[in-house]
Amino acid sequence: MAVLPIVGHSHPVLRQKAKRVRNIDGSVQRLIDDMVETMHEVEGVGLAAPQVGVSLRVIVIELPGEETLALVNPQIVKRSGEREVVEGCLSVPGYRGEIKRSVKVVAKGLDRHGREARIRGEELMAQVLEHELDHLNGVLYIDHLESMDKLSKLEPGAEATEI
Ligand SMILES: [Zn+2]
Repeated sequence: MAVLPIVGHSHPVLRQKAKRVRNIDGSVQRLIDDMVETMHEVEGVGLAAPQVGVSLRVIVIELPGEETLALVNPQIVKRSGEREVVEGCLSVPGYRGEIKRSVKVVAKGLDRHGREARIRGEELMAQVLEHELDHLNGVLYIDHLESMDKLSKLEPGAEATEI
């Protein structure tokens, strides 16, 4: 396993629609392992492959105290509710923004063995699923800001959930 460098927000890979994975082979499983190690290293709660410069539809998620999830070719099949959240992104370091996210999200995709998986997320889990799916579609949370007043610089040492 290896910690991969996280690309900055000006890298074009973050603005591309990531490609579907056709075959979950050893290289995709290695990518998942490396993404999990990278997510641990940077203390993030989720990571999408484009954030490490790979244009493939792969995400990993690990909420505090919960098990690690990997989803290949994920899709959101249902969203409901709306809430305001404060969100940060590992690819946009030093900032956070107030945006709206769904309260509940149902996503489906494949696990690392190619088996169908369905995830029901509420609150933070729903937020992370939407954030990672956005990454696969070339969207950053800053695109959802209603105005630039909703974006603020993080004070040094401030805690923020980065995804
Ligand atoms: Zn992000």
